[in-house]
Amino acid sequence: MNSIRRFGSDEQKAYWLPKMLRFEKICSWVLTEPEVGSDASGGLRTTATLDGDSWVLNGSKKWSGNCTFADVNVIWAKNTHTGQVNGFLVELGTPGYLLEKITDKISKRVVQNANITLENCRIPLANRLPRAERFRDVSDLLAEARADVAWESVGIARGAYEHALAYANQREQFGKPISSYQLIQMNLAKMLGNITAMLAMMVQLTALQQAQGGKLRLPQSSLAKAWCSEHMRETVSLARAVLGGNGILLEYNVARYFADAESLYSYEGTYEINNLIVGREITGHSAFV
Ligand SMILES: Cc1cc2nc3c(=O)[nH]c(=O)nc-3n(C[C@H](O)[C@H](O)[C@H](O)COP(=O)(O)OP(=O)(O)OC[C@H]3O[C@@H](n4cnc5c(N)ncnc54)[C@H](O)[C@@H]3O)c2cc1C
Repeated sequence: MNSIRRFGSDEQKAYWLPKMLRFEKICSWVLTEPEVGSDASGGLRTTATLDGDSWVLNGSKKWSGNCTFADVNVIWAKNTHTGQVNGFLVELGTPGYLLEKITDKISKRVVQNANITLENCRIPLANRLPRAERFRDVSDLLAEARADVAWESVGIARGAYEHALAYANQREQFGKPISSYQLIQMNLAKMLGNITAMLAMMVQLTALQQAQGGKLRLPQSSLAKAWCSEHMRETVSLARAVLGGNGILLEYNVARYFADAESLYSYEGTYEINNLIVGREITGHSAFV
């Protein structure tokens, strides 16, 4: 929705946004490619070529949450005339838009991901997002989406903590609740410390976003995303240990958080890439390109 709201034409906004708001239409966001993940800023291989009254898209994409059933997909591709990255709306069922669902995931199993092939996929001229002119525009979207994933980390960490605390209070070993043992309490205290610090960082980031007119700079949200996902990952791991063997069973919930943590750590910019974005900001040296 953010892509269309920011970069769409008035007609695109009027058609898609109210329907998406009501969940009558679902959208997916398609940037990553099988061979191009972290270096999407410079390396996209999918192309868009102007041909008469159409754009013709060719290439491969990978991941894109919910693209197996999304009504419309925001696809980022290199304009062969300008060499710049532009955004295009491709509706499900468009000839040449081919999907193969990714199976056997261990994380975020509820999200449907796919390998996408664009084979001479022809769309009307009006399906280009007219206000997205270069990769810099994609970065602006990522800056906000990264903050969302940082918030998601807070939620997952808190969910895991609450389940671990409840479990520790009712599970007895050696005749007493395991929550009465010092080492379990230390793990719970560590989790609560992580969550409290993550929450404080995110409240501060949101205040900053409001002060900046609703916008964030990439290094600001990259710092929050990297730091929160790292501490979320430690938190769910501690929670899993508190549950002992039951920590690997889905019926006790913590296993789900534990598995989902791995996606959060790597999507919306990996832990490493987000730290490198912060490093570039504070030193002036880019260490990843
Ligand atoms: C569940 C899930 C949902 C997703 N949803 C979407 C979606 O909706 N839309 C979308 O477009 N994409 C989506 N993605 C893709 C996601 O954004 C990418 O997986 C992510 O950007 C990393 O790219 P990659 O997997 O190709 O890893 P790579 O870029 O191949 O990285 C592999 C490793 O190398 C490291 N690395 C790479 N370059 C450097 C460097 N210069 N210096 C140091 N280390 C480096 C990385 O940090 C990582 O550890 C999703 C992924 C998952 C798992």
